[in-house]
Amino acid sequence: MIEINGTLVSPGKGGVYGEKMINGYRIWDPYRSKLSALWYLDKSTDIASDEVVLYLGAANGTTVSHVADYAESVYAVEFAPRPMQDLLEVAKRRKNIIPVFADATRPKEYAGFLEAADLLYQDVAQPDQTSIIRKHLPFVKAGGRVILMLKTRSVDIRKSPEEVFCEACKELEDAGLSVEKTFWLSPYHADHAAIVCKKI
Ligand code: SAM
Repeated sequence: MIEINGTLVSPGKGGVYGEKMINGYRIWDPYRSKLSALWYLDKSTDIASDEVVLYLGAANGTTVSHVADYAESVYAVEFAPRPMQDLLEVAKRRKNIIPVFADATRPKEYAGFLEAADLLYQDVAQPDQTSIIRKHLPFVKAGGRVILMLKTRSVDIRKSPEEVFCEACKELEDAGLSVEKTFWLSPYHADHAAIVCKKI
């Protein structure tokens, strides 16, 4: 990833969502993007130019657009019609974003459109986040990375964030992933944890 004077940036054409520019690069704001927040907490986070990314929970394409500035291609899955309209506009300006209008709980419906991913990134903010990861593991290359942005309050409001987080890590390990690193995304995003895994 590229940083300018400690600020994370990405190298694409600006004007996607009103983001600020610095020296011709797009500023990638950690308060608007959990993946940017993860970079500020763990500067080893990287996306290489030959990587295929499968992105679940694309919303209006804010983070997707930055990921696409780095990656070879981004398959961006979103099921809500309104953000999908914005995502389609973003995808028109970047040749390497493939929008997938579908429900991430039913990957069989779009499996035929996908290619094997180097990075599976998930930010759907739903109760069944680990189950959605499990269903997408067949689309991740061996040795590939999986990053789950876990919104603990969406999973079970009655349990503490730490309890939800520990259960999610165990479920990911049970699914055959190796949990490599974990971070709470505060102060950028409250009650969110990033769980960085490797597919063995
Ligand atoms: N990742 C986005 C970003 O950084 O710009 C923000 C994502 S927002 C927290 C969660 C998104 O996931 C919403 O747009 C929601 O519609 C989408 N979503 C939730 N459940 C989904 C599902 N089962 N399939 C596809 N998209 C889903």
